[in-house]
Amino acid sequence: MTATVALPAEARVYLVGGAVRDALLGRTPGDRDWVVVGTDAAAMRAAGFKTVGADFPVFLHPLTGEEYALARTERKSGRGYTGFVVHSDRSVTLEDDLLRRDFTINAIAQGDDGALIDPLGGQRDLEAGVLRHCSPAFAEDPLRVLRAARFMARFAPLGFTVHPDTLALMRGMVAAGELAHLVPERVWQELKRALGEAQPSAFLRTLRECGALAVVLPEVDALYGVPQRAEYHPEVDTGMHTERVVDMAARLAPGDAAIGFAALTHDLGKALTPREVLPKHPMHEQTGLAPLAALCARLKVPNAETQLAADACREHLNVHRFDELRDATVFDLIERCGGLRQGSRIDALALVCEADKRGRLGHSEADYPQARALLACRDAALTVQAKDVMREGLEGPALGEALRKARIQAISAARRSFSAA
Ligand code: ATP
Ligand code: MG
Repeated sequence: MTATVALPAEARVYLVGGAVRDALLGRTPGDRDWVVVGTDAAAMRAAGFKTVGADFPVFLHPLTGEEYALARTERKSGRGYTGFVVHSDRSVTLEDDLLRRDFTINAIAQGDDGALIDPLGGQRDLEAGVLRHCSPAFAEDPLRVLRAARFMARFAPLGFTVHPDTLALMRGMVAAGELAHLVPERVWQELKRALGEAQPSAFLRTLRECGALAVVLPEVDALYGVPQRAEYHPEVDTGMHTERVVDMAARLAPGDAAIGFAALTHDLGKALTPREVLPKHPMHEQTGLAPLAALCARLKVPNAETQLAADACREHLNVHRFDELRDATVFDLIERCGGLRQGSRIDALALVCEADKRGRLGHSEADYPQARALLACRDAALTVQAKDVMREGLEGPALGEALRKARIQAISAARRSFSAA
């Protein structure tokens, strides 16, 4: 194995974590992580391994760039994600290292002879489809609650569940206020990865089951229990609708977290509807913008994701009733969403709106011609450029107005030929 070439002579190396788990599941593994036993940091450096950070005994292989971590134990010394005392020396065993990991399915090691070392029963849990904590020390790191939910987003389609004891631990961590110590960047990181998985609704459900959704995404948690009109939304509950929409987004745009995030947040306004007007939600596209902005600011959501989510929140009803919009209104919509400068933003918006429409009980296979019509209008608008309307003496705002008019005409023609087709 070339990856072991540069290791200190006395070291033993094992493949661990996701690579072993995914291979056993028959899935394509992501990064490979290695654990090294029987040596120390000085010997690793002498052998050419590069140190990663001062705090953790983690190294990069000089040739492959893969992560090699010395076997370690961790002990909690403070609150939240920081505050661990890390201990690694030659006496720390492979079994010690496996025990400090999050889930049994992530705590299987494989030696270079291919043999599996599985003291916590990870293979049994993989076969049974159970996400189970390795030890009571699980409760020491609140990030593990989010990881549990994210792994559920990935493995729920395979029939996985969270072990009841693990769920109980997670509830205890939430009740103890541990999740308040997560830094926003980590929450966003996990959310983003969960939205890119096959079944993001399992992320929401898992968090909700242990009470964490109300802590990390209160704006989304508030959607549960809010009714919608049954004739449009047979699933009635807005939280159930949101779960369907994120799963539909994952199906229509696999791995696209920006589309997933906009799907997740498009209806935030429905939590703010006054009780007396329920189950109608007048103006929810407008009232949703404030909680969306609060969520994005708190989690430091990057610009591209924030923008698409705001576009989808504001415009999703307009896109649904596309046929009723005037040509000028269609143009304004495309312009407001930045579609004249960056056409791809309209593709993304159309996908989110389609996920919304098909994310309803009994409508998952429905056609969504609005998406095709919107894209045809975007294309039509972009066929007209300033040079096409340039005339002697036309400049500044007058040129802008002429361009707008010509583009609206192009949209009009496209819609006529579209509805004739
Ligand atoms: P992925 O396929 O998402 O990479 P992974 O299981 O490989 O999944 P990583 O984040 O790459 O996850 O971490 C590698 C391994 O390190 C995990 O399998 C797990 O054993 C351990 N690990 C990572 N984060 C934690 C944590 N917060 N607490 C305990 N163990 C962890
Ligand atoms: Mg990994």
